[in-house]
Amino acid sequence: MGAEMDKKRFLRENPLCCFCGGLVKSEEPDHQPAKIVFVKKERPEGLELPSCRRCNRLTSIDDCILSFVAQMAGSLRQQVTGVDISFKKAFQTLQTNRGELLERMQKTGKWTLHQGKIQRALDYNQPEINEGLCRIAAKLALGTYYIETGKIARPGTHIETAWGHNQRGNAVELVNNLLGQLPKFYELNQGKKWNTSDSFFLRHLVKTDEVYIAAIFHQSVALIAYFKEGEASKERYKLAGCWTPSTERGLELLEWRGAQVDVKNQSGQ
Ligand SMILES: [Zn+2]
Repeated sequence: MGAEMDKKRFLRENPLCCFCGGLVKSEEPDHQPAKIVFVKKERPEGLELPSCRRCNRLTSIDDCILSFVAQMAGSLRQQVTGVDISFKKAFQTLQTNRGELLERMQKTGKWTLHQGKIQRALDYNQPEINEGLCRIAAKLALGTYYIETGKIARPGTHIETAWGHNQRGNAVELVNNLLGQLPKFYELNQGKKWNTSDSFFLRHLVKTDEVYIAAIFHQSVALIAYFKEGEASKERYKLAGCWTPSTERGLELLEWRGAQVDVKNQSGQ
């Protein structure tokens, strides 16, 4: 009952969906990142965002993909004893709804030597994974903008996104490499060190109507996004996927340019 009252008040105070251009009524709070992404579903403090039903549902499979990829690739995964409930739930949901994707990840994965054992790595370079993780990155950027400024990005705004994962678990290196693609004035490490023991952290910069975010999950998956409110992407800031808020279609993929950011190539390994 208390929760229902809280929800009503939240929707009254936040009457518009912050993901699809600012003209659609909010119907549900959207929690970013989703609970399922975290071990034992223990979600650290995240963003509670007003969403229409359509935009909220849009990323439910993506959340499972993020949970699966982050926990499979993450160094924390090795410290988890037994099968974690959120990982299990994400895996089961993907088995039921995206069984073909799981098979493809296994089929195209390369055999590798890892800690003295030969094993087959999963191939994360799949369209559903690339788009799904970038869709979450776009949501995090729109949500951050809303929380920080109270404003909703208009239709026509281009949201640039990319993701990367690092099986070696060096989040600092990963993020620094990813941020090499962002404008120079965005200094992520300024004054603060990454706490790599966290299963999640989000750093952002909101400069007038420009937003930059970088989110790290399980020391392994990094999502980055940026946009300038109301504007199309500038050539030099283009990342893997470009999204836009659409009143008619929700958060919409405008252009897909490439796969995940290849961290290894960028760091010269
Ligand atoms: Zn919406």
